[in-house]
Amino acid sequence: ALDEAREAIAVHARMVADFPKPGIAFKDLTPVLADPVGLSSVVTALTHGCRGIDLVAGIDARGFLLGGAVARELEVGVLAVRKGGKLPPPVHSVDYTLEYGTASLEIPASGIDITGQRVLLVDDVLATGGTAVAAAELLQRAGAHVVGVAVIMELDGLGGRATIADGLGADLPVHA
Ligand code: AMP
Repeated sequence: ALDEAREAIAVHARMVADFPKPGIAFKDLTPVLADPVGLSSVVTALTHGCRGIDLVAGIDARGFLLGGAVARELEVGVLAVRKGGKLPPPVHSVDYTLEYGTASLEIPASGIDITGQRVLLVDDVLATGGTAVAAAELLQRAGAHVVGVAVIMELDGLGGRATIADGLGADLPVHA
């Protein structure tokens, strides 16, 4: 599945220069997820050897698609970690710093109880790692244990792994 996933990414991933801002090389993995072999091989590769997960958390927005499929493969539920302002109250909310300005992420504070649950955090791309750390802090605040981060693609040179190690502990597995 790993070779198949690499092949699907090589064929279908689209690189867009200077989006959303000048100097950013945007990796659009939407076509990988839209391809049947792409979605299936990526999900199989990401979940291979994955044990002891109670819940998958997918990060807004491509992480929702991937997270749902990963959760089904692991036979657990999925939780959307949403951008601020989308969910009805009450919410757990975290503000974090982006390259320019700040953003917020939210999860429901009512209707689900994730206390003590072992959560796998899922997104399409790991860049600086700021989003993953903020999402993990949010889940921890709700009482969950984040036990791993899984992404399709990790971008070189942006320090994502180091940021996760600093923020969440060097022993947290990061699977890309
Ligand atoms: P990060 O810098 O790791 O906090 O990434 C912020 C969010 O934007 C994550 O959800 C990534 O999936 C997405 N992202 C950041 N940089 C890129 C990029 N170059 N191409 C595609 N997605 C990106």
